[in-house]
Amino acid sequence: MLVDSHCHLDFEVFEAELDGVVGRAKAAGVGKLVTICTRLTEFDRVLAIAERFENVWCSVGIHPHEAASEPDAATARLVELASHPKVVGIGEAGLDYHYDHSPRERQREVFRRHIEAARCSGLPLIVHSRNADGDTVALLREGAAEGGLAGVIHCFSSTELLARGAMELGFYISLSGIVTFRNAESLRAIARGIPDDRLLVETDAPYLAPVPHRGKRNEPAFVVHTAALVAELRGTAPDVFAAMTTANFHRLFTKAAG
Ligand SMILES: [Zn+2]
Ligand SMILES: [Zn+2]
Repeated sequence: MLVDSHCHLDFEVFEAELDGVVGRAKAAGVGKLVTICTRLTEFDRVLAIAERFENVWCSVGIHPHEAASEPDAATARLVELASHPKVVGIGEAGLDYHYDHSPRERQREVFRRHIEAARCSGLPLIVHSRNADGDTVALLREGAAEGGLAGVIHCFSSTELLARGAMELGFYISLSGIVTFRNAESLRAIARGIPDDRLLVETDAPYLAPVPHRGKRNEPAFVVHTAALVAELRGTAPDVFAAMTTANFHRLFTKAAG
């Protein structure tokens, strides 16, 4: 069994055929999905999807793009929402200095609150980081120094600096369809070197469909293509790779285990 550790099933493109999307994932051997919250104002819809399907879980958090447009999210509020049995992580949260949709100072402030919420709830932090390696590592270190911080760098597409910095703090690295893209040789080099017990896979659907679906709408079933490529890259048999990444997922996302 494979897991799609990061997708966005609440996005409008999936609305008309959610049963089909979840069903196709299951048929492809993708047994568990985590649908990721990007706006607190949409959390109810995200949670409703997790409640509707027994093999779907969710997170709670604010994407850095929405850090300025979303109303204030106190740490205590995030922790409270995270107590629901189907909420397995805090995020996605982090820093996006590529798009800069929210002022950077505001992004850092909102990210800090999520780091705090992850520590207080004991749930893993789902980190989005783009063109912000240095600040991401600095803020994670700050939080980790307080103790009790775990998490994953989702859709990893950064440099060795972030990979090493995050893994030093015990974080996991999650690879998306980007690793299958023709021009992603430097990412594949990093992917080869990630220890077996630190690796996850995801789709980030509806974005970033892996080859051979590149450019089309992505969906959780397609995580099999990313897994197949990374397994081959690492010289691992596909079933061994699936078992390994699923065990990693359960170790990190303990509420979705069992
Ligand atoms: Zn993201
Ligand atoms: Zn995402």
